[in-house]
Amino acid sequence: MFKAFKIACLFIIKSCGGFWLTRQFNKGNTCVLCYHGFSYDDEYLFRPKLFMRPQTFARRMEWLKKSNYEVVSLQYAVAHDGEGKNRIALTMDDGWAGTYELVDDVLSKYQFPLMLYVTSYYVEKQGAVINVALAYILWRSLGKTLIVKNADIGLNKSYVISNDNRNNIVTELCEAIDTLENTSDRQQILMDISRELDVTLMVNAQLLFRLLSKEELTKLLASNVDLQLHSHRHCSPQNEESFQQEIAQNRDYLQQIVPNTLLEHFCYPSGEYYTKQLAWLEKNAIKTSTTISSGMFNKDTDLLQIPRFLDGEDVHQLEFEAELCGLTTFIRKLF
Ligand SMILES: [Zn+2]
Repeated sequence: MFKAFKIACLFIIKSCGGFWLTRQFNKGNTCVLCYHGFSYDDEYLFRPKLFMRPQTFARRMEWLKKSNYEVVSLQYAVAHDGEGKNRIALTMDDGWAGTYELVDDVLSKYQFPLMLYVTSYYVEKQGAVINVALAYILWRSLGKTLIVKNADIGLNKSYVISNDNRNNIVTELCEAIDTLENTSDRQQILMDISRELDVTLMVNAQLLFRLLSKEELTKLLASNVDLQLHSHRHCSPQNEESFQQEIAQNRDYLQQIVPNTLLEHFCYPSGEYYTKQLAWLEKNAIKTSTTISSGMFNKDTDLLQIPRFLDGEDVHQLEFEAELCGLTTFIRKLF
């Protein structure tokens, strides 16, 4: 109901020239957009911000192409004054397999510069990302009973899955699965649970919740994709040694794919970061870091705390346009 009211208000504001007017005030500013993965089946209903439908993404890119916005790389936006233009910089987090399997044709068609922040652990392992896959399976299994009898992970328990407890079940199962050393053993338990609850993780012979392989990441380079850092295990340790190790491992891995690229741009995993980490990033020669706080980027923005707008399947086209022109940022400042 609130959403419908909001869209109606945005429609009226746009019709009265409000979007155009806000754009004039925001000349010189850049809106940094953030995307994640893409939906093979119904994942866009499960987590609409994490898995957008490929056709929605294609529509957004087509709209950008026809718009008066200038799509630039984040490096360009950082190095060059806005020069009275309204700019957009595209970023994408994690490196989900759908970036190649589902939308490479779109990326290749438009050739907009895209900074892709890759978390390398699952790129190396090539299984399904266990916590996300489990959360999906349980989301599809409300009301069902899951029985886990597995001595290897020390569980002999049954769960009646509900909206209230599914997150806790995922946490408990992940902690138990994490005690296993071997990747294939971990994946096997995930597949056992998927079978037990009759929720497939395969769609058209493609495994859901997989990250891009090294080969797919290499192929994406031809679509104007710039690979950058997102930590090795998608975490943001508060201990300096562990934090630096995450970046070093991530950098070492990606350097194998792009040996001639300077890996000096970072995205905080899940947007989680702490003030003390800014100095650690500087020590690591990181030039920019992006968050998931909303706002516009301009010459006054701290380069290690660049705001972004998180686009998703649940974002209406008018909300998207209101964000790009700066109207939403303006309204947020008022309240
Ligand atoms: Zn991420």
